[in-house]
Amino acid sequence: MEVADGLGVHKLACTKGSYAYFVPGAVPVLVDTGLPGRGPAILQECESLGGPPAHIVITHYDVDHIGSAAWLQEATGATVWVSAEDAPYIAGERRRPGMKRVVASLVRPAPPKAPRLLRAGDAVGPLTAVPTPGHTPGHLAFYGAGFAAVGDALTVRGGRPVPMAGLLTWNSAQAAQSVAKLRAAGARWILPAHAEPFWWDGSRISSV
Ligand SMILES: [Zn+2]
Repeated sequence: MEVADGLGVHKLACTKGSYAYFVPGAVPVLVDTGLPGRGPAILQECESLGGPPAHIVITHYDVDHIGSAAWLQEATGATVWVSAEDAPYIAGERRRPGMKRVVASLVRPAPPKAPRLLRAGDAVGPLTAVPTPGHTPGHLAFYGAGFAAVGDALTVRGGRPVPMAGLLTWNSAQAAQSVAKLRAAGARWILPAHAEPFWWDGSRISSV
């Protein structure tokens, strides 16, 4: 469903729990791909909103974000984009730090083939990649017109935007700085993976 009337970005209901977002239009872009096995449902939902994605951008290397990337790439021919810093973890060339090493050894989705690398300020269709490190070394948010898809750069606890739990975080100080950066970027819709989208004016959050 569209996050807000006329905003032009849709929350994919089939990815509830680890939301992927879809921006239809001349250059349709999918942000994240949910868990492994969600590919067919994601593709069907994108098609109901106007067509398959031409590009897939990934916020970070976790399994619940890259899970269906390879399947969707194969099914649609979409170009997959990942941050240069997280790319070696996604490819399996470098082992994830902390307890994510355990998760990654239990759930091993096929990595997307030959993903393109994103750096600060790169544009993919209507979205711009903005580094928001902390949750992972190369975590990216994607800014669009009036919104930011923020992956796991923040979640909502007690009605407030906060970094993800420390145990799941690569660098807590950087994660806190990234939340401050998102706050400083000005009022707009914030689209997290693990919370419902909300409007943030920098102090209070709302969903209206
Ligand atoms: Zn996540």
